[in-house]
Amino acid sequence: MKPLLITLLLAGCAYAQFPEPDGGTVKPGTLPATWITGGPNCLEVPEFQVHEYNPDLFILRESGCINYEKPFLYLFFGAEKALLYDTGAGQAVPTGRVVSDLIAKWAKRAGRTTPIPSVVAHSHAHGDHTAGDAQMKALPNTTVLGTDVASVQTFFGFKDWPKDIVQFELGGRVLDVIGIPGHEVASIAIYDRQTGVLLTGDTVYPGRLYVRDAPTFTASIERLVEFTKDKPVTHVLGTHIEQSATPFLDYKVGTQYQPNEHKLELNRGNLLEILEAMHTMGAKVRRYALRDLTVYPR
Ligand SMILES: [Zn+2]
Repeated sequence: MKPLLITLLLAGCAYAQFPEPDGGTVKPGTLPATWITGGPNCLEVPEFQVHEYNPDLFILRESGCINYEKPFLYLFFGAEKALLYDTGAGQAVPTGRVVSDLIAKWAKRAGRTTPIPSVVAHSHAHGDHTAGDAQMKALPNTTVLGTDVASVQTFFGFKDWPKDIVQFELGGRVLDVIGIPGHEVASIAIYDRQTGVLLTGDTVYPGRLYVRDAPTFTASIERLVEFTKDKPVTHVLGTHIEQSATPFLDYKVGTQYQPNEHKLELNRGNLLEILEAMHTMGAKVRRYALRDLTVYPR
């Protein structure tokens, strides 16, 4: 094949392949300088802060006025499917309405005449990430995954959970799904080849990383480090912020309003730092504060 033709073919499916290690094929996006938290006046805080990272990736931050956990949700669009990662916390969370409005807005802008099917996956099974599941199940063209390990394995096609890394195709956009049990048995990370973003759920975020099973947690961080070593990672994005902007300092458990919170985005360096901390502690996890997060025994 002629070199030009090869180049054109590669360019045509650039987002289905892994991005070039130099980052040249990563589709860019932006993150806000600050996020809503939960106050000081709850009457003025929207239910969700909806941030358009780029036209095909939305990041939603739930208000701390609905639930102090104020988790982050992620909505990806490909040519054939949308994927929502998590559904929020607390009984009053309006995930179904907010996400269906966003899907309609995206479809209109994309000039779609047929509805886009959506899949709802979870970072893990804990209730502060699944509270909007019933609302999502009530929407048309929507598949909501179960939260147990067997459901996650079967849907994504894991054969050797959690060691194998499987792909999920959204249509011109491949997501790599990585099993990362240790915080919770069904935890998954998602690497988006299009933007280079790595979603890590409650396993890695600027806050308290609760380790339920230390050897399994360490193996999961090792897997993330190994997987990302030859790929561009633009941001490591988790599902909470509990850290303050002051190094080493976290907000108290249950804090609703965090006017000086840490930024959401972490990076691959944080994965290396966590791995080093886990190796230092071995199986006996204690409270271990790092600059941007704290490892916690559970
Ligand atoms: Zn959580």
